[in-house]
Order: sequence, then structure tokens, then C-alpha cells
Amino acid sequence: MTAPVLTIVIPCYNEEEVLPETMRQLTSLLDELTGECLISEKSKLLFVDDGSKDMTWPLIYKKGLEDYRVKGIKLARNAGHQNALLAGLFAAKAHSDCLVSIDADLQDDISVIREFLARFADGYEVVYGVRRERQTDTLFKKHSAQVFYKVMKLMGVTIVYNHADYRLMSRRAVDALEQFNESNLFLRGVVPLVGFRSTTVYYDRKERLAGETKYPLRKMLSFALDGITSFSVTPIRLISLMGFISFFVSLLFGGYFFFLKFSGQTETGWTSLITSIWLIGGLQLIAMGFIGEYIGKIYKETKRRPKFVVDIDTYNLGIPKTSSK
Ligand code: UDP
Ligand code: MG
Repeated sequence: MTAPVLTIVIPCYNEEEVLPETMRQLTSLLDELTGECLISEKSKLLFVDDGSKDMTWPLIYKKGLEDYRVKGIKLARNAGHQNALLAGLFAAKAHSDCLVSIDADLQDDISVIREFLARFADGYEVVYGVRRERQTDTLFKKHSAQVFYKVMKLMGVTIVYNHADYRLMSRRAVDALEQFNESNLFLRGVVPLVGFRSTTVYYDRKERLAGETKYPLRKMLSFALDGITSFSVTPIRLISLMGFISFFVSLLFGGYFFFLKFSGQTETGWTSLITSIWLIGGLQLIAMGFIGEYIGKIYKETKRRPKFVVDIDTYNLGIPKTSSK
């Protein structure tokens, strides 16, 4: 078996403070892995500059001149972490057998890549890096992340618990990912949808090496909302549910207040007023829920997600086409 060509894709947004160290650690990791014949000499690092306003791009460019294994892509504007990552994965896949995505701040333990490669050699095509504990995160981040995973689960979205975007994917898996051509791609939700044999590897997450988080609360919330609305029509269903609840409340109230009315205990007009408020409210919400169901359908259609992804096909070739050895 020949050693696979690995590309490590690193999205960077204003990371000048951390980049020199990140580059140093990742290139020496490449040296080690190549030395041990775990990866091919053609393996590369691909830094994606996500429209940074600091020295990020000059740093990447300069390093590329010194070391042929360091490549760079500069996006014309800040497209966001997920899009930057995709840009890198799609650009590198043609030259790689497997691709690892990792943040520029090296919070994720890079020595785990060795384990990713071992799993890849075992025939797994998607290897998720999962954080063992979150001691290094602030209390707020820890709790908000828990809530995020719980809400996602409640909304019926499959995501891997405590897995950020630190993962290995085979070239085929990235090819399949490219078929999901929705413009708002939420990777942590889509990768499990791609399928293929997958497994998880646990690691400890460290502190950011330098610089500040590029995910302030505003971006975190919009990321979470994106995740939910890209995968789930449950919020729309909740409207119908509220409608039905309101409708039944109106029936109960109606019955109860008519009873009060006939026993002469209420003001004139009050019974009919309060019952109609709940009744009309309920009917309106139910109607909105129905419209919502259709919108949900349209929304799903507009994504044009692939209906399936083929894993093995012996129809044309006669040989199982799979990367499992
Ligand atoms: N990032 C990016 N574009 C953005 C925001 C972040 O490419 O608009 C990159 C950033 O440079 C880093 C990764 O995404 O490599 C994760 O960001 P960060 O470490 O700040 O997030 P946190 O770990 O605090 O959630
Ligand atoms: Mg980070």
C-alpha cells in the first residue's frame, strides 16, 4: 500500500498572531509523518485566508515561497469559517487522498492526525475529532455549546456531539459533499448526511495559542440559528402545535365560561369575547402552520440536495470501488 496524499486545510481569519507558530508545528508534523511513511511526500498544507485585514495573507504567501508544501488561497472577502473551509477542501481534493480540516489557532491537538490516518488506513472515510472535555472553554461557551447540541437534537438534526470542524475526510467523501450545493452549507450537519463508514477519535481541546476568538457571541448565535434552520422544519411545526393548543384552550374556556354564564356569574359580553380570541388565534396559527408546511417543502426542494450518495458500485467495473483496503 502506498502512503496516502494528505492535505491539511486551515481556514484563517485575522490570524497573524498565531500563524507563524501554527505553520511551524504543522510543517514539522508533515516532516514526521512523511518520515514515517504514513503520508506521501506530496502531502500539503493549504491555508485559506478568509478575507483577513491583517498580515495573514503575506505570511501564507511568504511561507509558500520557502516551503513548496505550503499552499494558500486568498478569498476576496470574508466568507465565513464554513465557506472558507469548503473553498479549501474543494480546491485540494483533486490532489489528495484524504483531507483534514483544522482551525488555525491549534486548539485541536494536531498529534491526533496520526490517529485519523490510522483510521483512514482501516478503511474509514470520515473520522470525526471529538472533544473529550471542555476545561479550556469559558463557562459560558461550555454551557451555550451544550444548549446548542441539545436544541439541534430536539429539532431532529443529526450532528456528532462535541465535534467541531476537526475531521478527516476521504477524497470521495469530499466529492460527495460537493454534491450538496445548497449555498448555506452547515458542515457539521451535512457531513453525517454524506454517509460512508465513519468513526470518532477523542482528544483534549487546548487554549487558543494566541489571538482572540473569531467567533463572538453574534456569530455564534447566527451559526446556531443557521444550523437549526438549514436542517429542520420543526420550528414551523411548532406553529401548528401552538395553534392546536390554542384551539383546544378555546374549547375548554368556552365550555367553562358558558357554564359560568348560565350560572349568572360573569359580565355580559366577556364569555363570547374571550372564547373568540382563543378560537380565532388558534385557527390563525393552524392556518399559518399549514402554509408553513408548504414553505418547508419548497425550502427543502430549493436546496437540491443529492437524493443518495453511492458507496460501492460493481455494476460497471466488476471491482468494488471503495477505499477500504
Ligand atoms: N475563521 C474564518 N472565518 C471567520 C471566522 C473564523 O476562517 O469569519 C477561522 C478562524 O481563523 C479559525 C477558525 O475559523 O481558524 C475557528 O475560529 P475560532 O478559533 O476563532 O473559533 P472558536 O474556536 O473560538 O470557536
Ligand atoms: Mg478556536
